[in-house]
Amino acid sequence: VKRQSTPLVPLTTDEAILANSFDNNTLNDWNYYYTHGAHLAGTNRTMAQWTADRWSENGFQARLDEYQTFLNYPVSHSLSLTYPNGSVFKASLEEAVLAEDETTSYPNRIPTFNGYSFTGNATAEYVYVGRGQVADFEALVSLNVPLEGKIALAKYGGPFRGLKVKNAALYKMIGCVLFTDPGDDGNITVANGYAAYPDGPARNPTSVQRGSVQFLSTYPGDPTTPGYPSKQDSPRADISSVVPSIPSLPISYVEAIPLLRALDGFGTPGSQVNRTNWVGALNVSYSTGPAPGAMLSMSNVMRDAITPIWDAVGIINGTTQDEVLVLGNHRDAWIVGGAADPNSGSAIMVELSKAFGKLLATGWKPRRTIVLCSWDAEEYGLVGSTEWVEEHINWLTESTIAYLNIDVGVSGKSPGISSTPEIRTIATNIMKKVLWPTMPNETLYDAWFAESDGEVGTLGSGSDYTSFLHNGISSIDMGADQGVDDPVYHYHSSNYDSYHWMSTYGDPGYQYHKAMGQYLSLLAYHLATDEVIPYDLPAYTIALQSYYDELLATINSTSKTLDTSELAAAISQFATSANEVMALMDQAVSTNDAALKTVVNHKFRDFQRGFTSAGGLPDREFFKHVVNAPGIDTGYAPTTFPGITEAVEAGNFELAAEWVGRTSLGIRRAADILKT
Ligand code: GLU
Ligand code: CA
Ligand code: ZN
Ligand code: ZN
Repeated sequence: VKRQSTPLVPLTTDEAILANSFDNNTLNDWNYYYTHGAHLAGTNRTMAQWTADRWSENGFQARLDEYQTFLNYPVSHSLSLTYPNGSVFKASLEEAVLAEDETTSYPNRIPTFNGYSFTGNATAEYVYVGRGQVADFEALVSLNVPLEGKIALAKYGGPFRGLKVKNAALYKMIGCVLFTDPGDDGNITVANGYAAYPDGPARNPTSVQRGSVQFLSTYPGDPTTPGYPSKQDSPRADISSVVPSIPSLPISYVEAIPLLRALDGFGTPGSQVNRTNWVGALNVSYSTGPAPGAMLSMSNVMRDAITPIWDAVGIINGTTQDEVLVLGNHRDAWIVGGAADPNSGSAIMVELSKAFGKLLATGWKPRRTIVLCSWDAEEYGLVGSTEWVEEHINWLTESTIAYLNIDVGVSGKSPGISSTPEIRTIATNIMKKVLWPTMPNETLYDAWFAESDGEVGTLGSGSDYTSFLHNGISSIDMGADQGVDDPVYHYHSSNYDSYHWMSTYGDPGYQYHKAMGQYLSLLAYHLATDEVIPYDLPAYTIALQSYYDELLATINSTSKTLDTSELAAAISQFATSANEVMALMDQAVSTNDAALKTVVNHKFRDFQRGFTSAGGLPDREFFKHVVNAPGIDTGYAPTTFPGITEAVEAGNFELAAEWVGRTSLGIRRAADILKT
């Protein structure tokens, strides 16, 4: 790859105070702290208080906000395969303890499980269902593979795991086993000659991806309190339509091999199934099965609890009370580890508070209020952030100019950002002020450009920006991810997303933590202090136009037509307002007119509120943004103009026409807010 070389943009005095405050050694210390105690959602108040204490030492007013949320915790479970000849393979459902990695032998470890999973047993023949999207199940139906009454064996990767379980139940299957496949690990695999962790950078074969199985694309947050905060006396809703009704268990690849192998020669071989990502990298045929007489027997017992969770909140008041910037990272992890997910981000947030503390010590004050949040229970379904947004919704929609999210701050060397479009120009410009450790004198901007082709992602879901975005708040999510040639990051492993892994393979020296932290603090600094919020509204127009072109392509791929002229007109109205507001901004700056700057700032702060559609998208009240939402059958990956696009994809053109209207209305409302 030819890498471009953009000169490092010199720092102002304030910027240098922030950037120079970042110390890789203290980042190491914070990461060590978070990864040396179990911190499953709702189980570690001390860690929340510790976080608040660090922020408060650095000059933030800090507190804990507690919610009473529904969570469930594992009690016992088992999985075994009985072969037609009667012999039995019993899965251990454990990640191996390693002498080299001290936290793998912590006491009170909990075995592998899925958050919000269903308590139940299932014994049946089983079918391999690929990545478990509706299209995978449809492929099986067309091959006449029996699904009803069988257990699904689904591969991780692609869609959010809860949707795999949801779809299995939709096709009348009675249980779901989820496995990790090394085919999703990039180039650093045992098959390519690399040693497995802890001896080398490849995946430890016993690693298991835990994770929530709630139905992310319906709504996030505590499933018993949709739309309102979970307090002691809150009414509790029935949750049966948003969490699974069949048991699920996650397993490692080493324990998946016998299950897949027993299907070899039965049903249709994987190579003949017409689906992307069906065949993985294990030495099996990925046949559909079922294998007559090969029976899986699974049991999953969970304990339900209404239990406290703790969000830490830290505030520096701005000189302007009605403009607020929120930064957030979740703190909870799958039991112990969490070195990358999420505590690389947590370490960065502590170091960032220290950097802003240094700036405060010089007498500096931000124009806008800065709020730091350390969320609990993200892993179960963005619970801490969603309950907090639900509680503070009026204040947030009156005042918030942006939400900056850092979840997995560092799991590799490949930087990426996803955001709403107006924030992209400032977010990529700030990258030119930070050095990236991979090559001498290379900027973060160049590293990012080489990895992403200069593309900023569109937000879907899967982290805590979701509740902000769907209430019409500008948002960005950032992190340095595992590139194809980076050591394998053991996503959602309790044992191997560990401090030992991070300090040996992921980011020895914590230089990537430092660079990401510098980036986040410089971005936050500009959003909090620039006299005019540094937004680029014509960039939003360009994004709307490209989503419009994609929509036309989607419509053209069907045999039907849809009148989208109202949407085209709304986009051009938005374009006009976006240009007008930029002209007003130029005028405010050139005349140095404080009142006019405030007018522009409030337009920038508020315009996205127009995009939210009261009542939400079809069948998912929570998701209100008409421009982008998590795909209904992807959960993580976004769909643009979701109301229209998903109706077209479902062949429901009446609904699609209705949503051309509702989407256009949202865009016109945003345009009206920007209009001068
Ligand atoms: N980030 C977590 C995951 O991907 C939580 C997502 C969710 O459940 O909303 O599992
Ligand atoms: Ca709630
Ligand atoms: Zn996370
Ligand atoms: Zn996670």
